[in-house]
Amino acid sequence: MTTLFYHDDAQPELLKAKRIAILGYGSQGHAHALNLRDSGHDVRVGLRPESGSVHKAEEAGLRVLPISDACAEADVIMVLVPDTEQKRTYDQEIAPQLSAGKCLLFAHGFNIRFNLISPPPDVDVAMIAPKGPGHLVRRTYVDGAGVPALVAVHHDATGQAHALALAYADAIGATRAGVLETTFAEETETDLFGEQVVLCGGVTALVRAGYETLVEAGYQPESAYFECLHELKLIVDLMYEEGITGMRYSVSDTAEYGDLTRGSRVITDAVKGEMKKILTEIQDGTFAAEWIEENEIGRPRYRELREAGKRHPIEQIGTTLRAMMPFVSAGRQKVSEASGGDTD
Ligand code: NAD
Ligand code: MG
Repeated sequence: MTTLFYHDDAQPELLKAKRIAILGYGSQGHAHALNLRDSGHDVRVGLRPESGSVHKAEEAGLRVLPISDACAEADVIMVLVPDTEQKRTYDQEIAPQLSAGKCLLFAHGFNIRFNLISPPPDVDVAMIAPKGPGHLVRRTYVDGAGVPALVAVHHDATGQAHALALAYADAIGATRAGVLETTFAEETETDLFGEQVVLCGGVTALVRAGYETLVEAGYQPESAYFECLHELKLIVDLMYEEGITGMRYSVSDTAEYGDLTRGSRVITDAVKGEMKKILTEIQDGTFAAEWIEENEIGRPRYRELREAGKRHPIEQIGTTLRAMMPFVSAGRQKVSEASGGDTD
């Protein structure tokens, strides 16, 4: 059964009695720390002393401590350092400070789902995973709205893990939008599947294959870019606002007939079979093992593929065309400056 929680379901006072540590001050970390503080909670930020974020967090009026000191003080610890750094941070700085009744929170289930982190049984382990980037978690909160989130309990040592997680979701604004009950396994597996098959991997491969097909057939790269990349946002916005049926209502009948008769020739049963294989690799831990190993050896394949991606002709033509449409990326960080992040 689907369960969604809203503001009236939360007990904010449960969290008022707790000392909270936010570990990391990146995309999610800054948003959680500031929203919790503005909701009247007792927040400290745990950072490595040499971190460039120390100054930013202090400028925002937050108290900053080394990670292990923040964990020692806190009853509730939210782990918002990068997923690939969480195991090391946990082993060296969090675990020694855990004691019975503390609550360990995550915003993504990867490290718990794949057993990289195994907290002791007398500690609560739960998840509040906002379904949006950190800057939106902050901006919507300030605007009186919120980003939806997922809630899951991995281990309930105190009998209060769920209520505490929900109070946390309330404090960052998520109960204004809806908090969906899930499990660490469902959140982790669907998140990885979505980004690999549809949101990132699927969509970039589709766009590039369409672009290459047009350019190889002799059409102008500019035409191919506008058709296969630029317009995608306009179509996706319609799907986001009105669903697939609503998008089909807005495009021409010719476009709709082409969609209805050709789409399944592109995304064939064989493609769907590959999606199932990718899902199996996520579920059985093959992907996680590969990504952990890649990190252990310094990410050679990751770097090589990322550089090859940057050299694709669609990137050059896109840079030229977007320079003529400054409104397209107005107010946004340049890709070269962005730190990366998550899709949800
Ligand atoms: P991020 O990369 O933006 O920020 C991580 C922060 O951790 C850094 O800013 C720094 O303050 C600190 N840090 C970096 N390296 C560190 C290290 N080696 N040791 C200790 N601290 C270090 O990360 P993020 O995108 O905010 O992700 C944090 C968590 O939130 C992850 O579990 C991620 O899956 C989850 N999440 C992210 C998003 C998103 O939109 N970015 C959405 C939902 C969930
Ligand atoms: Mg995601």
